[in-house]
Amino acid sequence: MGITKTDFMRGMQCRKMLWLDKHRPSLKVIPPEIRQRLDAGNEFGDKAMAMFGDFEEMTVYRPGTTIPDKKKMLANTQRHLKLGTPVICEAAFSNYNNYCAVDILKKTETGYDFYEVKNSPEVKEQFVKDAGFQHYIIARCGLNIGRIFIVTHGEDEENPFVINDVTEEAKGYASWVNENIWNLNRLQKQREEIDVPVGDQCTNPYECWYYHYCHDDSEQISLEAWAEDV
Ligand code: SF4
Repeated sequence: MGITKTDFMRGMQCRKMLWLDKHRPSLKVIPPEIRQRLDAGNEFGDKAMAMFGDFEEMTVYRPGTTIPDKKKMLANTQRHLKLGTPVICEAAFSNYNNYCAVDILKKTETGYDFYEVKNSPEVKEQFVKDAGFQHYIIARCGLNIGRIFIVTHGEDEENPFVINDVTEEAKGYASWVNENIWNLNRLQKQREEIDVPVGDQCTNPYECWYYHYCHDDSEQISLEAWAEDV
């Protein structure tokens, strides 16, 4: 069990959040409006797969479930990279069991560019960190990545895909990822619950779905969108 992009970002917001995801996920409370935004984000991501025309999608689910079969996705991705497929969607990579799937890989003369799709009107710092994690894993798998783009949701619904180049910023997160990924790997496996005092991290950058577990239930909270980052 390694670290995924979601694990990494959640663990960097709060170590205890990651531990609870792994050991006590039933305590999670996801508000309905956040679920709706997640669904809308998935729909936008599905549409974006065709933004460069024909594509090959790597997604495979375990039989009878909607759980991705990562092993088959990794094998599919390697096969299409060898074939030189021009556009590969949901391309999967793993390094020492740390895992990521990239929304869109587009072939270039020297390797591939990658595009992460966010159902958001603007690029947020969290998105660039996400892309930095993905680049870290992909680079360690030996694939040459040229440019890195975040695709945001523009105002023109006929052509809503706005491409933002975040190459330098995303690649600049490599040492930050390396400094933290191994510690998060160890931490998620420990048996005892991690003790983290509540604080700013409970709502920043995202509202924590374990908020009520860690806080007094009577406290009023404002719900922030989580959905844009998936
Ligand atoms: S509510 Fe706060 S302390 Fe508890 S897991 Fe979430 S971020 Fe961490």
